[in-house]
Amino acid sequence: MSVLDDNIAKLDGYLVRFRETGIPNRIAGEDAAGSMGVFQSTSPVDKSVICDVAHGTAADIDKAANAAHDAFAAWRDMPASERKKIIIRIAEGIEARAEEIALCECWDTGQAYKFMSKAALRGAENFRYFADQVVQARDGQHLKSPTLMNITTRVPIGPVGVITPWNTPFMLSTWKIAPALAAGCTVVHKPAEASPLTARLLVKIAEEAGLPPGVLNTVNGFGEGAGKALCEHPKIKAIAFVGESRTGSLITKQGADTLKRNHLELGGKNPVIVFDDADLDRALDAAIFMIYSINGERCTSSSRLLVQDTIRKEFEAKLIKRVNNIKVGHPLDPKTEIGPLVTEEHFKKVTGYFDIAKEDGATVAAGGEVVGDKGYFVRPTLFTQADNKMRIAQEEIFGPVLTSIPFSSEEEALQIANDNPYGLTGYVWTNDLTRALRFTDKLEAGMIWVNSENVRHLPTPFGGVKSSGIGRDGGDWSFEFYMEQKHIGFATGQHKITKLGAL
Ligand code: NAD
Repeated sequence: MSVLDDNIAKLDGYLVRFRETGIPNRIAGEDAAGSMGVFQSTSPVDKSVICDVAHGTAADIDKAANAAHDAFAAWRDMPASERKKIIIRIAEGIEARAEEIALCECWDTGQAYKFMSKAALRGAENFRYFADQVVQARDGQHLKSPTLMNITTRVPIGPVGVITPWNTPFMLSTWKIAPALAAGCTVVHKPAEASPLTARLLVKIAEEAGLPPGVLNTVNGFGEGAGKALCEHPKIKAIAFVGESRTGSLITKQGADTLKRNHLELGGKNPVIVFDDADLDRALDAAIFMIYSINGERCTSSSRLLVQDTIRKEFEAKLIKRVNNIKVGHPLDPKTEIGPLVTEEHFKKVTGYFDIAKEDGATVAAGGEVVGDKGYFVRPTLFTQADNKMRIAQEEIFGPVLTSIPFSSEEEALQIANDNPYGLTGYVWTNDLTRALRFTDKLEAGMIWVNSENVRHLPTPFGGVKSSGIGRDGGDWSFEFYMEQKHIGFATGQHKITKLGAL
Protein backbone atom coordinates (compact mmCIF):
# COMPACT_ATOMS: atom_id res chain seq x y z
CA MET A 1 0.00 0.00 0.00
CA SER A 2 1.36 3.46 -0.87
CA VAL A 3 1.70 6.08 1.88
CA LEU A 4 -1.18 7.96 0.23
CA ASP A 5 -3.48 4.91 0.40
CA ASP A 6 -2.38 4.31 3.95
CA ASN A 7 -3.18 7.91 4.92
CA ILE A 8 -6.58 7.74 3.18
CA ALA A 9 -7.41 4.57 5.12
CA LYS A 10 -6.34 6.15 8.42
CA LEU A 11 -8.35 9.29 7.67
CA ASP A 12 -11.40 7.17 6.99
CA GLY A 13 -11.05 5.69 10.46
CA TYR A 14 -10.82 9.14 11.99
CA LEU A 15 -13.80 10.51 10.06
CA VAL A 16 -16.21 7.78 11.16
CA ARG A 17 -17.22 9.62 14.34
CA PHE A 18 -17.68 12.90 12.48
CA ARG A 19 -19.93 11.17 9.95
CA GLU A 20 -21.99 9.40 12.62
CA THR A 21 -22.56 12.23 15.05
CA GLY A 22 -21.72 15.33 13.02
CA ILE A 23 -20.04 18.18 14.87
CA PRO A 24 -22.16 19.54 17.70
CA ASN A 25 -21.33 22.71 19.59
CA ARG A 26 -19.56 22.17 22.90
CA ILE A 27 -20.92 24.31 25.73
CA ALA A 28 -20.17 23.86 29.44
CA GLY A 29 -18.63 20.45 28.77
CA GLU A 30 -21.73 19.15 26.96
CA ASP A 31 -22.54 18.61 23.30
CA ALA A 32 -25.26 20.96 22.12
CA ALA A 33 -27.23 21.18 18.87
CA GLY A 34 -27.16 24.42 16.90
CA SER A 35 -30.30 26.55 17.23
CA MET A 36 -30.44 26.89 13.41
CA GLY A 37 -30.03 23.16 12.76
CA VAL A 38 -26.96 22.13 10.77
CA PHE A 39 -24.84 23.14 7.81
CA GLN A 40 -22.61 20.82 5.83
CA SER A 41 -18.85 20.77 5.71
CA THR A 42 -17.34 19.65 2.41
CA SER A 43 -13.84 18.65 1.39
CA PRO A 44 -12.07 20.74 -1.24
CA VAL A 45 -10.27 17.59 -2.44
CA ASP A 46 -13.36 16.08 -4.15
CA LYS A 47 -16.24 18.38 -3.08
CA SER A 48 -17.75 15.51 -1.02
CA VAL A 49 -19.74 16.16 2.15
CA ILE A 50 -17.68 15.40 5.27
CA CYS A 51 -20.36 15.79 7.92
CA ASP A 52 -23.11 17.95 9.39
CA VAL A 53 -22.04 20.80 11.62
CA ALA A 54 -24.14 22.54 14.28
CA HIS A 55 -25.35 25.89 12.95
CA GLY A 56 -25.00 28.14 15.94
CA THR A 57 -26.49 31.63 16.24
CA ALA A 58 -26.92 34.32 18.89
CA ALA A 59 -28.87 31.97 21.18
CA ASP A 60 -26.01 29.43 21.22
CA ILE A 61 -23.43 32.18 21.73
CA ASP A 62 -25.46 33.42 24.69
CA LYS A 63 -25.37 29.96 26.30
CA ALA A 64 -21.63 29.62 25.63
CA ALA A 65 -20.85 33.12 26.94
CA ASN A 66 -22.82 32.37 30.11
CA ALA A 67 -20.95 29.07 30.51
CA ALA A 68 -17.60 30.87 30.07
CA HIS A 69 -18.75 33.51 32.57
CA ASP A 70 -19.81 30.90 35.15
CA ALA A 71 -16.53 28.97 34.77
CA PHE A 72 -14.34 32.07 34.96
CA ALA A 73 -13.88 32.64 38.72
CA ALA A 74 -12.82 29.07 39.48
CA TRP A 75 -10.40 28.94 36.53
CA ARG A 76 -8.92 32.34 37.39
CA ASP A 77 -8.48 31.37 41.04
CA MET A 78 -7.08 27.88 40.43
CA PRO A 79 -3.45 27.81 41.66
CA ALA A 80 -1.17 28.63 38.73
CA SER A 81 0.75 25.38 39.17
CA GLU A 82 -2.47 23.38 38.64
CA ARG A 83 -3.50 25.43 35.59
CA LYS A 84 -0.04 24.86 34.21
CA LYS A 85 -0.35 21.06 34.62
CA ILE A 86 -3.66 21.00 32.73
CA ILE A 87 -2.24 23.10 29.89
CA ILE A 88 0.78 20.82 29.59
CA ARG A 89 -1.57 17.83 29.45
CA ILE A 90 -3.41 19.55 26.56
CA ALA A 91 -0.06 19.79 24.73
CA GLU A 92 0.53 16.08 25.38
CA GLY A 93 -2.96 15.25 24.11
CA ILE A 94 -2.28 17.17 20.89
CA GLU A 95 1.03 15.36 20.41
CA ALA A 96 -0.66 12.00 20.94
CA ARG A 97 -3.28 12.82 18.31
CA ALA A 98 -1.08 14.85 15.95
CA GLU A 99 -1.59 12.46 13.04
CA GLU A 100 -5.37 12.54 13.39
CA ILE A 101 -5.35 16.34 13.62
CA ALA A 102 -3.10 16.65 10.56
CA LEU A 103 -5.08 14.24 8.38
CA CYS A 104 -8.41 15.84 9.30
CA GLU A 105 -6.99 19.31 8.67
CA CYS A 106 -5.77 18.26 5.20
CA TRP A 107 -9.15 16.82 4.26
CA ASP A 108 -11.10 19.79 5.63
CA THR A 109 -8.91 22.58 4.22
CA GLY A 110 -6.93 21.05 1.31
CA GLN A 111 -3.58 21.77 2.96
CA ALA A 112 -0.75 19.37 2.17
CA TYR A 113 0.18 16.77 4.83
CA LYS A 114 3.81 17.80 4.37
CA PHE A 115 3.02 21.06 6.19
CA MET A 116 0.03 20.08 8.36
CA SER A 117 1.91 17.34 10.20
CA LYS A 118 4.22 20.06 11.52
CA ALA A 119 1.37 22.53 12.12
CA ALA A 120 -0.33 20.11 14.52
CA LEU A 121 2.88 19.82 16.56
CA ARG A 122 3.30 23.58 16.52
CA GLY A 123 -0.13 23.73 18.14
CA ALA A 124 1.22 21.60 20.98
CA GLU A 125 4.29 23.86 21.24
CA ASN A 126 2.01 26.87 21.70
CA PHE A 127 0.41 25.21 24.73
CA ARG A 128 3.80 24.19 26.16
CA TYR A 129 5.26 27.66 25.68
CA PHE A 130 2.40 29.47 27.42
CA ALA A 131 2.16 26.79 30.14
CA ASP A 132 5.71 27.77 31.09
CA GLN A 133 4.59 31.39 31.59
CA VAL A 134 1.50 30.68 33.71
CA VAL A 135 3.20 31.26 37.04
CA GLN A 136 4.81 34.62 36.16
CA ALA A 137 1.86 35.94 34.11
CA ARG A 138 0.32 37.68 37.12
CA ASP A 139 3.58 39.22 38.34
CA GLY A 140 3.92 42.99 38.25
CA GLN A 141 6.24 45.82 39.24
CA HIS A 142 7.15 47.65 42.38
CA LEU A 143 7.15 51.41 41.73
CA LYS A 144 8.04 53.14 45.02
CA SER A 145 7.16 56.82 45.53
CA PRO A 146 8.02 59.03 48.57
CA THR A 147 4.73 58.26 50.33
CA LEU A 148 3.48 55.05 48.79
CA MET A 149 4.61 51.62 47.89
CA ASN A 150 2.97 51.14 44.48
CA ILE A 151 2.64 47.70 43.05
CA THR A 152 1.16 46.44 39.83
CA THR A 153 -0.37 43.08 39.24
CA ARG A 154 -2.10 41.51 36.28
CA VAL A 155 -5.46 39.78 36.36
CA PRO A 156 -7.21 37.91 33.54
CA ILE A 157 -9.66 40.14 31.68
CA GLY A 158 -12.55 37.62 31.87
CA PRO A 159 -14.30 35.42 29.31
CA VAL A 160 -12.95 36.12 25.81
CA GLY A 161 -14.08 35.32 22.27
CA VAL A 162 -11.68 33.74 19.78
CA ILE A 163 -12.68 33.95 16.10
CA THR A 164 -10.42 32.06 13.69
CA PRO A 165 -10.08 31.66 9.90
CA TRP A 166 -9.79 28.52 7.76
CA ASN A 167 -6.08 28.72 6.95
CA THR A 168 -4.13 26.37 9.23
CA PRO A 169 -7.12 26.60 11.58
CA PHE A 170 -5.82 24.24 14.28
CA MET A 171 -2.45 25.94 14.70
CA LEU A 172 -3.97 29.43 14.60
CA SER A 173 -6.63 28.64 17.17
CA THR A 174 -4.02 27.25 19.61
CA TRP A 175 -2.06 30.45 19.17
CA LYS A 176 -4.99 32.36 20.69
CA ILE A 177 -6.54 29.81 23.01
CA ALA A 178 -3.28 28.70 24.70
CA PRO A 179 -2.30 32.18 26.04
CA ALA A 180 -5.92 32.97 26.93
CA LEU A 181 -6.17 29.84 29.10
CA ALA A 182 -2.69 30.42 30.54
CA ALA A 183 -3.71 33.97 31.50
CA GLY A 184 -6.71 32.58 33.39
CA CYS A 185 -9.40 33.58 30.88
CA THR A 186 -12.25 31.36 29.77
CA VAL A 187 -12.97 31.13 26.05
CA VAL A 188 -15.77 30.93 23.52
CA HIS A 189 -14.27 29.80 20.21
CA LYS A 190 -16.02 30.43 16.88
CA PRO A 191 -14.06 28.47 14.26
CA ALA A 192 -14.32 29.25 10.56
CA GLU A 193 -17.37 27.68 8.94
CA ALA A 194 -15.16 26.21 6.20
CA SER A 195 -12.93 24.22 8.60
CA PRO A 196 -14.74 23.00 11.72
CA LEU A 197 -13.12 19.56 12.21
CA THR A 198 -10.01 20.27 14.23
CA ALA A 199 -11.71 22.78 16.57
CA ARG A 200 -13.86 19.86 17.69
CA LEU A 201 -10.75 17.75 18.28
CA LEU A 202 -9.15 20.56 20.28
CA VAL A 203 -12.02 21.06 22.71
CA LYS A 204 -12.26 17.29 23.27
CA ILE A 205 -8.52 16.97 23.85
CA ALA A 206 -8.63 19.91 26.28
CA GLU A 207 -11.47 18.42 28.32
CA GLU A 208 -9.81 15.00 28.38
CA ALA A 209 -6.71 16.77 29.73
CA GLY A 210 -8.76 17.98 32.68
CA LEU A 211 -9.89 21.42 31.53
CA PRO A 212 -13.01 22.12 33.61
CA PRO A 213 -16.36 22.32 31.76
CA GLY A 214 -17.13 25.81 30.40
CA VAL A 215 -13.50 26.97 30.33
CA LEU A 216 -13.32 26.33 26.57
CA ASN A 217 -16.57 26.37 24.60
CA THR A 218 -16.94 25.93 20.85
CA VAL A 219 -19.82 27.37 18.84
CA ASN A 220 -19.87 26.67 15.11
CA GLY A 221 -21.64 28.91 12.67
CA PHE A 222 -21.20 31.79 10.29
CA GLY A 223 -19.65 35.20 10.77
CA GLU A 224 -22.80 37.26 10.40
CA GLY A 225 -24.64 35.05 12.95
CA ALA A 226 -22.52 33.43 15.64
CA GLY A 227 -19.44 35.61 15.00
CA LYS A 228 -21.33 38.89 15.24
CA ALA A 229 -23.23 37.76 18.36
CA LEU A 230 -19.93 36.87 20.06
CA CYS A 231 -18.56 40.37 19.39
CA GLU A 232 -21.75 41.94 20.77
CA HIS A 233 -22.13 39.81 23.90
CA PRO A 234 -21.79 41.87 27.09
CA LYS A 235 -20.20 39.04 29.09
CA ILE A 236 -17.37 38.64 26.56
CA LYS A 237 -14.64 41.10 27.47
CA ALA A 238 -12.32 40.84 24.47
CA ILE A 239 -12.19 39.39 20.96
CA ALA A 240 -9.06 37.83 19.54
CA PHE A 241 -9.66 37.77 15.80
CA VAL A 242 -7.71 36.39 12.85
CA GLY A 243 -9.12 36.94 9.39
CA GLU A 244 -9.64 39.42 6.59
CA SER A 245 -9.09 43.14 7.02
CA ARG A 246 -12.68 44.06 6.12
CA THR A 247 -13.96 41.58 8.72
CA GLY A 248 -11.59 43.24 11.20
CA SER A 249 -13.46 46.54 10.71
CA LEU A 250 -16.77 44.77 11.34
CA ILE A 251 -15.36 43.22 14.53
CA THR A 252 -14.48 46.72 15.76
CA LYS A 253 -17.92 48.13 14.92
CA GLN A 254 -19.80 45.20 16.43
CA GLY A 255 -17.87 45.47 19.68
CA ALA A 256 -18.33 49.23 20.07
CA ASP A 257 -21.47 49.18 22.23
CA THR A 258 -19.92 46.80 24.75
CA LEU A 259 -16.49 48.53 24.59
CA LYS A 260 -14.71 45.34 23.52
CA ARG A 261 -10.96 45.07 23.56
CA ASN A 262 -10.03 43.72 20.13
CA HIS A 263 -6.89 42.11 18.83
CA LEU A 264 -6.94 42.01 15.03
CA GLU A 265 -4.60 39.86 12.94
CA LEU A 266 -5.55 40.62 9.36
CA GLY A 267 -4.43 40.29 5.76
CA GLY A 268 -1.13 40.94 4.03
CA LYS A 269 0.47 41.65 0.65
CA ASN A 270 3.99 41.14 1.82
CA PRO A 271 7.05 42.11 -0.22
CA VAL A 272 10.18 40.00 -0.58
CA ILE A 273 12.88 42.40 -1.79
CA VAL A 274 15.85 40.84 -3.56
CA PHE A 275 18.91 43.07 -4.13
CA ASP A 276 21.57 42.01 -6.63
CA ASP A 277 24.22 41.57 -3.89
CA ALA A 278 22.17 38.90 -2.07
CA ASP A 279 22.78 35.16 -1.91
CA LEU A 280 20.42 34.60 -4.82
CA ASP A 281 20.05 30.84 -4.43
CA ARG A 282 18.91 31.18 -0.84
CA ALA A 283 16.69 34.14 -1.75
CA LEU A 284 15.06 32.00 -4.46
CA ASP A 285 14.43 29.10 -2.06
CA ALA A 286 12.94 31.42 0.55
CA ALA A 287 10.77 33.39 -1.89
CA ILE A 288 9.35 30.15 -3.33
CA PHE A 289 8.75 28.68 0.13
CA MET A 290 7.03 31.79 1.46
CA ILE A 291 4.46 32.02 -1.35
CA TYR A 292 3.87 28.45 -2.48
CA SER A 293 3.88 26.53 0.83
CA ILE A 294 0.56 26.16 2.68
CA ASN A 295 -1.19 26.68 -0.71
CA GLY A 296 -0.21 30.36 -0.51
CA GLU A 297 -3.07 30.63 1.97
CA ARG A 298 -0.96 32.28 4.64
CA CYS A 299 -1.12 35.84 5.90
CA THR A 300 2.67 36.13 5.97
CA SER A 301 3.18 34.87 2.40
CA SER A 302 5.66 36.82 0.27
CA SER A 303 3.13 37.56 -2.46
CA ARG A 304 5.04 40.50 -4.04
CA LEU A 305 8.53 39.77 -5.36
CA LEU A 306 10.50 43.00 -5.75
CA VAL A 307 13.59 42.07 -7.72
CA GLN A 308 16.44 44.36 -8.77
CA ASP A 309 16.43 44.91 -12.54
CA THR A 310 20.12 43.89 -12.87
CA ILE A 311 19.26 40.29 -11.89
CA ARG A 312 15.58 40.15 -12.81
CA LYS A 313 15.85 38.05 -15.97
CA GLU A 314 18.08 35.39 -14.46
CA PHE A 315 16.12 35.28 -11.19
CA GLU A 316 12.73 35.01 -12.92
CA ALA A 317 14.01 32.29 -15.29
CA LYS A 318 15.11 30.14 -12.34
CA LEU A 319 11.85 30.91 -10.56
CA ILE A 320 9.70 29.81 -13.51
CA LYS A 321 11.57 26.50 -13.73
CA ARG A 322 11.08 25.80 -10.03
CA VAL A 323 7.43 26.90 -9.98
CA ASN A 324 6.63 24.58 -12.88
CA ASN A 325 8.18 21.73 -10.89
CA ILE A 326 6.06 22.21 -7.78
CA LYS A 327 3.93 19.13 -7.17
CA VAL A 328 0.18 19.76 -7.04
CA GLY A 329 -1.75 16.78 -5.79
CA HIS A 330 -3.72 14.93 -3.17
CA PRO A 331 -3.08 16.62 0.19
CA LEU A 332 -2.59 13.27 1.95
CA ASP A 333 0.25 12.31 -0.38
CA PRO A 334 3.40 13.27 1.57
CA LYS A 335 5.09 14.30 -1.69
CA THR A 336 2.38 16.87 -2.49
CA GLU A 337 3.51 20.47 -2.15
CA ILE A 338 0.22 22.19 -3.06
CA GLY A 339 -3.26 20.83 -2.39
CA PRO A 340 -6.63 22.22 -3.42
CA LEU A 341 -7.84 25.68 -2.35
CA VAL A 342 -10.18 25.65 0.60
CA THR A 343 -13.62 26.38 -0.89
CA GLU A 344 -15.34 26.99 -4.22
CA GLU A 345 -15.73 30.67 -3.30
CA HIS A 346 -12.03 31.02 -2.62
CA PHE A 347 -11.11 29.02 -5.75
CA LYS A 348 -13.21 31.44 -7.84
CA LYS A 349 -11.55 34.41 -6.18
CA VAL A 350 -8.00 33.16 -6.79
CA THR A 351 -8.60 31.98 -10.38
CA GLY A 352 -10.36 35.29 -11.12
CA TYR A 353 -6.95 36.98 -10.77
CA PHE A 354 -5.62 34.99 -13.78
CA ASP A 355 -7.83 37.17 -16.04
CA ILE A 356 -7.36 40.33 -13.99
CA ALA A 357 -3.58 39.98 -14.45
CA LYS A 358 -3.89 39.68 -18.23
CA GLU A 359 -6.41 42.54 -18.46
CA ASP A 360 -4.00 44.76 -16.51
CA GLY A 361 -1.15 43.90 -18.91
CA ALA A 362 0.92 41.47 -16.82
CA THR A 363 2.32 38.20 -18.18
CA VAL A 364 1.32 34.81 -16.80
CA ALA A 365 4.82 33.35 -16.75
CA ALA A 366 3.88 30.11 -14.95
CA GLY A 367 0.62 28.43 -13.95
CA GLY A 368 -2.55 30.43 -14.38
CA GLU A 369 -4.50 27.20 -14.82
CA VAL A 370 -6.83 25.00 -12.85
CA VAL A 371 -6.03 21.30 -12.45
CA GLY A 372 -8.83 18.80 -13.17
CA ASP A 373 -12.43 19.30 -12.07
CA LYS A 374 -12.71 16.98 -9.07
CA GLY A 375 -11.62 19.55 -6.50
CA TYR A 376 -10.34 23.10 -6.22
CA PHE A 377 -6.81 22.57 -7.55
CA VAL A 378 -4.77 25.30 -9.29
CA ARG A 379 -1.23 25.37 -10.66
CA PRO A 380 1.19 27.59 -8.73
CA THR A 381 1.22 30.84 -10.62
CA LEU A 382 3.73 33.58 -11.36
CA PHE A 383 2.87 36.96 -12.87
CA THR A 384 5.72 38.97 -14.41
CA GLN A 385 5.88 42.31 -16.26
CA ALA A 386 3.78 43.73 -13.45
CA ASP A 387 3.82 47.11 -11.79
CA ASN A 388 2.79 48.01 -8.30
CA LYS A 389 -0.39 49.82 -9.37
CA MET A 390 -1.98 46.63 -10.73
CA ARG A 391 -4.63 44.83 -8.68
CA ILE A 392 -2.39 41.73 -8.59
CA ALA A 393 0.17 43.87 -6.74
CA GLN A 394 -2.22 45.68 -4.42
CA GLU A 395 -4.82 43.07 -3.38
CA GLU A 396 -4.42 40.01 -1.18
CA ILE A 397 -5.06 37.00 -3.46
CA PHE A 398 -4.34 34.44 -0.70
CA GLY A 399 -3.39 31.60 -3.03
CA PRO A 400 -0.20 30.17 -4.61
CA VAL A 401 0.18 33.26 -6.77
CA LEU A 402 3.25 35.50 -6.93
CA THR A 403 3.54 38.90 -8.61
CA SER A 404 7.05 39.91 -9.71
CA ILE A 405 7.85 43.64 -9.94
CA PRO A 406 11.26 45.04 -10.95
CA PHE A 407 13.05 47.95 -9.23
CA SER A 408 16.25 49.79 -10.03
CA SER A 409 17.36 51.46 -6.78
CA GLU A 410 17.04 51.05 -3.03
CA GLU A 411 14.79 54.15 -2.89
CA GLU A 412 12.48 52.74 -5.53
CA ALA A 413 12.34 49.35 -3.78
CA LEU A 414 11.32 51.04 -0.54
CA GLN A 415 8.73 53.20 -2.26
CA ILE A 416 7.14 50.17 -3.97
CA ALA A 417 7.30 48.04 -0.83
CA ASN A 418 5.47 50.67 1.22
CA ASP A 419 2.95 51.62 -1.48
CA ASN A 420 0.33 49.12 -0.33
CA PRO A 421 -2.51 49.21 2.20
CA TYR A 422 -1.11 46.23 4.13
CA GLY A 423 1.91 46.01 6.43
CA LEU A 424 2.25 42.54 7.94
CA THR A 425 5.69 41.18 6.99
CA GLY A 426 8.64 42.04 4.78
CA TYR A 427 11.62 39.92 3.67
CA VAL A 428 14.83 41.69 2.69
CA TRP A 429 17.66 39.95 0.82
CA THR A 430 20.96 41.85 0.75
CA ASN A 431 24.50 41.34 2.00
CA ASP A 432 24.96 45.08 2.55
CA LEU A 433 24.58 45.51 6.30
CA THR A 434 24.05 49.26 6.33
CA ARG A 435 21.44 48.98 3.59
CA ALA A 436 19.64 46.28 5.60
CA LEU A 437 19.61 48.61 8.63
CA ARG A 438 18.36 51.60 6.61
CA PHE A 439 15.78 49.58 4.74
CA THR A 440 14.25 47.75 7.69
CA ASP A 441 14.05 51.04 9.58
CA LYS A 442 11.80 52.53 6.87
CA LEU A 443 9.89 49.44 5.75
CA GLU A 444 6.26 49.61 6.92
CA ALA A 445 5.67 46.14 8.37
CA GLY A 446 5.10 44.61 11.78
CA MET A 447 7.63 41.81 11.17
CA ILE A 448 10.72 41.80 8.97
CA TRP A 449 13.24 39.08 8.24
CA VAL A 450 16.64 39.81 6.68
CA ASN A 451 18.17 37.01 4.60
CA SER A 452 15.60 34.61 5.97
CA GLU A 453 12.13 33.26 5.42
CA ASN A 454 9.58 33.64 8.21
CA VAL A 455 10.96 31.67 11.15
CA ARG A 456 8.56 32.02 14.05
CA HIS A 457 10.08 32.31 17.52
CA LEU A 458 7.29 32.30 20.11
CA PRO A 459 8.71 34.97 22.46
CA THR A 460 8.84 37.55 19.61
CA PRO A 461 5.92 39.88 18.77
CA PHE A 462 3.66 38.78 15.91
CA GLY A 463 1.33 41.25 14.22
CA GLY A 464 0.93 43.87 11.55
CA VAL A 465 0.63 47.58 10.87
CA LYS A 466 -1.71 49.52 8.53
CA SER A 467 -4.56 47.28 7.27
CA SER A 468 -2.76 44.18 8.57
CA GLY A 469 -3.94 44.55 12.11
CA ILE A 470 -3.84 46.00 15.58
CA GLY A 471 -2.05 44.34 18.48
CA ARG A 472 0.63 41.72 18.95
CA ASP A 473 0.76 38.04 19.85
CA GLY A 474 3.66 36.12 21.29
CA GLY A 475 5.63 36.25 24.52
CA ASP A 476 4.33 38.66 27.10
CA TRP A 477 2.43 40.60 24.41
CA SER A 478 -0.24 37.88 24.48
CA PHE A 479 -0.71 38.33 28.22
CA GLU A 480 -0.99 42.10 27.80
CA PHE A 481 -4.06 41.41 25.68
CA TYR A 482 -5.71 38.74 27.82
CA MET A 483 -5.00 40.46 31.14
CA GLU A 484 -5.70 43.77 32.86
CA GLN A 485 -3.01 45.73 34.63
CA LYS A 486 -4.00 46.69 38.16
CA HIS A 487 -2.25 49.31 40.28
CA ILE A 488 -2.40 49.23 44.10
CA GLY A 489 -0.80 51.95 46.24
CA PHE A 490 0.03 51.26 49.93
CA ALA A 491 0.71 54.28 52.13
CA THR A 492 4.05 53.82 53.84
CA GLY A 493 3.38 56.42 56.56
CA GLN A 494 1.22 59.37 57.56
CA HIS A 495 1.57 61.52 54.44
CA LYS A 496 -0.39 64.76 54.34
CA ILE A 497 -3.96 64.35 53.05
CA THR A 498 -5.47 67.63 51.86
CA LYS A 499 -8.40 68.37 54.17
CA LEU A 500 -11.63 69.81 52.73
CA GLY A 501 -14.49 71.10 54.94
CA ALA A 502 -12.31 70.98 58.04
CA LEU A 503 -11.73 74.67 58.82
P1 NAD B 1 -12.70 35.94 7.28
O1 NAD B 1 -12.47 37.30 7.81
O2 NAD B 1 -13.68 35.77 6.18
O3 NAD B 1 -13.22 34.97 8.43
C1 NAD B 1 -12.49 34.76 9.61
C2 NAD B 1 -13.45 34.40 10.73
O4 NAD B 1 -14.28 35.52 11.00
C3 NAD B 1 -14.40 33.23 10.40
O5 NAD B 1 -14.55 32.45 11.57
C4 NAD B 1 -15.68 33.95 10.05
O6 NAD B 1 -16.84 33.17 10.26
C5 NAD B 1 -15.63 35.12 11.01
N1 NAD B 1 -16.46 36.27 10.62
C6 NAD B 1 -16.82 36.68 9.38
N2 NAD B 1 -17.61 37.78 9.48
C7 NAD B 1 -17.72 38.08 10.79
C8 NAD B 1 -18.40 39.08 11.52
N3 NAD B 1 -19.13 40.04 10.92
N4 NAD B 1 -18.30 39.09 12.86
C9 NAD B 1 -17.57 38.15 13.51
N5 NAD B 1 -16.92 37.15 12.87
C10 NAD B 1 -17.00 37.12 11.53
O7 NAD B 1 -11.28 35.36 6.91
P2 NAD B 1 -10.93 33.98 6.18
O8 NAD B 1 -11.27 34.13 4.75
O9 NAD B 1 -11.52 32.86 6.97
O10 NAD B 1 -9.34 33.91 6.39
C11 NAD B 1 -8.42 34.44 5.52
C12 NAD B 1 -7.93 35.79 6.00
O11 NAD B 1 -7.29 35.69 7.27
C13 NAD B 1 -6.86 36.39 5.08
O12 NAD B 1 -7.13 37.75 4.86
C14 NAD B 1 -5.58 36.24 5.88
O13 NAD B 1 -4.55 37.13 5.54
C15 NAD B 1 -6.06 36.42 7.26
N6 NAD B 1 -5.10 35.87 8.23
C16 NAD B 1 -4.32 36.73 8.97
C17 NAD B 1 -3.38 36.23 9.86
C18 NAD B 1 -2.49 37.16 10.68
O14 NAD B 1 -1.88 36.68 11.62
N7 NAD B 1 -2.38 38.42 10.36
C19 NAD B 1 -3.22 34.85 10.00
C20 NAD B 1 -4.01 34.02 9.23
C21 NAD B 1 -4.96 34.55 8.36
